[in-house]
Amino acid sequence: MKPETIAIHTPGIGRDGAVAASIQLSTTWQHGPAYENLHGFTYVRDTNPNVADLEARLAAMEGGAVAAAFASGMAAGAALLAGLPEGCRVIFHHDLYHDFRNLAAATFPVRKIEAVFIDMTDLEALGDALTDNTALVWFETPSNPKLDIIDIAAVSRLAHEAGTQVAVDGTFATPVLQRPLDLGADYVIHSLTKYMGGHSDIQGGAVIAREDNDAARALFATRKVTGGVLSPFNAWLVSRGLQTLHCRMEAHCRNAGVLAEFLSAHDRVETVHYPFLSGRAGEDIARAQMKAGGGMLSVEIVGGRDGALAVASRVKLILNATSLGGVESLIEHRASVEGPTPRSPQGLLRLSVGLENADDLIEDLDQALDF
Ligand SMILES: *Cc1c(COP(=O)(O)O)cnc(C)c1O
Repeated sequence: MKPETIAIHTPGIGRDGAVAASIQLSTTWQHGPAYENLHGFTYVRDTNPNVADLEARLAAMEGGAVAAAFASGMAAGAALLAGLPEGCRVIFHHDLYHDFRNLAAATFPVRKIEAVFIDMTDLEALGDALTDNTALVWFETPSNPKLDIIDIAAVSRLAHEAGTQVAVDGTFATPVLQRPLDLGADYVIHSLTKYMGGHSDIQGGAVIAREDNDAARALFATRKVTGGVLSPFNAWLVSRGLQTLHCRMEAHCRNAGVLAEFLSAHDRVETVHYPFLSGRAGEDIARAQMKAGGGMLSVEIVGGRDGALAVASRVKLILNATSLGGVESLIEHRASVEGPTPRSPQGLLRLSVGLENADDLIEDLDQALDF
């Protein structure tokens, strides 16, 4: 089956014959006198039918053997990192979702895990950073917020030669545009809060593993004891979101492509970061591993921080808000979001391009850039 069909028909119609999935809110199931599992489920923190259905759909869409859904993207990523052995090394691409950087800083030292940040577009730098004790290579592609493109197949090849596993945060691309497991990655991580949910109204996360092995099973054990399980209602909403993901992504990509062209030609814009922009670093890799450029872009505004804040304060239709992947267009001054030691350039604005008519978005940006 093709991904669009999988998204709609996996795991298939429920036993009750209802075409639209039901929501099962029960926190507990009747069991036998010695805790015999009679109905496939026992306690909601372990798993529940809506979470299990969502996981089946996510695994199929990514071409993975198993998926584990969590209460947030952070909980998903944290569960994967929790399985790493003490004293190992983790190599991250340096343009990394800021809370994963914070998580590594907060939790790695006591476990004597070393976080190494490199430019993973430079495969030689990766080769140099890979050591015998490197347990994981982790990157986003496209990355947040600079839309760097990492060659999934090349990085996976190098990492595997060194006996290291590869995790790709595919939040920006979704499985509709890019399937990292097909290209050699071992894990895909998603914030379901973004495109997968798609309507800015749920929080969730997932790890999808290429193989169903002890390491993948450990994700469920970690989820059970740390309690980061996704709620049934949120699982139901994400499953619903996935059914329209391919149409929404088409429209997000179309609008973002139009905006990227418009912004590239504007004299108040210094740089546009968008994967399919012609002549940009990584364009060839992006075109090879992604079906389209995605709905995210960032721009560096002439005048640095003052210029960026001027634009952010002048937009009328586009909302100043964090997060991404919803139907409405959002803009944010990333450095302001990243706390006291921001890594994003002060002139950078990140845009999550929504599903409005592109003409209206251009009109709004055009007047906002006239500062
Ligand atoms: C939002 C985001 C996360 C974190 O997900 P939450 O659902 O907010 O916990 C991780 N990675 C990327 C690339 C994100 O954009």
